[in-house]
Amino acid sequence: MTLYFPNMAEPAGRTLGDEETAALERVIRSGMLSSVWGTEARALEREVGELYGSRHAIACSSGTAALHLSVVAAAPDPGDEIITTPITDFGTVAPILAQNAVPVFADVDPSDGNLDPDAVAALIGPRTRAIMAVHLFGAPARAGKLRALADEHGLILIEDCAQAWLTELPTGRYAGTAGHVGTLSLQQWKHITCGDGGLTITGDDELARRMRLFADKGWDRAAGRSHESLGLNYRMTELQAAVARAQLAKLPGVVAARRRTAGELIEALRGHEGIVPPRPDGHAWWLFPLVLPGGGAPELAAHLSAAGIPARAGYLKEPLNKAPLWGGPIYGTSHYPLDGYRPAACPEAERLVGDTLLIIDWNEHYTSEHVAAIAEAIGSHPQSRSRIRH
Ligand SMILES: *Cc1c(COP(=O)(O)O)cnc(C)c1O
Repeated sequence: MTLYFPNMAEPAGRTLGDEETAALERVIRSGMLSSVWGTEARALEREVGELYGSRHAIACSSGTAALHLSVVAAAPDPGDEIITTPITDFGTVAPILAQNAVPVFADVDPSDGNLDPDAVAALIGPRTRAIMAVHLFGAPARAGKLRALADEHGLILIEDCAQAWLTELPTGRYAGTAGHVGTLSLQQWKHITCGDGGLTITGDDELARRMRLFADKGWDRAAGRSHESLGLNYRMTELQAAVARAQLAKLPGVVAARRRTAGELIEALRGHEGIVPPRPDGHAWWLFPLVLPGGGAPELAAHLSAAGIPARAGYLKEPLNKAPLWGGPIYGTSHYPLDGYRPAACPEAERLVGDTLLIIDWNEHYTSEHVAAIAEAIGSHPQSRSRIRH
């Protein structure tokens, strides 16, 4: 009999329960579902701000919206460049285009797929306005080095923490607090969820002001019906916020449980020479990534899938620097701001996605039994054994 692996699309793989139901009922009975006049979204912002030790937290409708707000805060002129990673959700990159800026893809560290600060440094030029780092799969990106680079060149550092709730940096602080702005997602597949939702965090009053205005049609509600700047409606509803608050209370338990079983799998994989398990330091284990420096991730993924383990190779079909999008127009028939644009090659990212990166779905409801089943399936892969020998 194959072991059942709880996943984040099912009740058994989530932490949704009576607390979320009660929160929803509270909001519905209040008659106020909008965060403009309600109390839930503002309370969520206070709670996330306190958790992260950030002066400001701004709730919004999705992680992508949060990233759009963060790009707005960085205030690129049209045609300015923002350096980011080719291994991420498209929600990291779309907001750059939405602000008529140009994404510049820097290559990644082959050990974990996070931005390589040296590759970033080499791409900084006169039009660079910001760096957007992603804490991929929950592993801490080199945020300290990236912040030093940003400071040296007068750039804004944005940290995309959609996969990295409570990821810890070597300083002991949470990922999202090393940059000028950090962003979080509450989408269905993240550590905690309200279906869709997002937050930005920042310690900077002016950046916070720009983001608040953009999330509410450029409307400073205290100033009357008057519009100060370009903005959209990226507001979170009270329903989302109430569920998110109930989920936030469960977040430390979710991350602790994921850390416990991930630590067990790392222990079990010790001695598998052809496989490099992730460094556990600070990791929040959104997924459990494995790197096979000798290649063969697609074959191992197929072997694991056949054994009933939720595993996939590569994470993306292709790294974002290779996405079909770059060939076509962006707005109507216009290629602006990407006229003549060809993203540079990112050989390390391309190799990870094509051949060396394997990801195993992770979940706070996994037990030692799940870990043992995964370790056994990896150990029984003949091809990975022969690779281990040479
Ligand atoms: C999920 C995700 C996003 C987008 O968040 P949404 O809430 O789905 O819009 C952005 N970046 C990363 C790294 C993500 O994993």
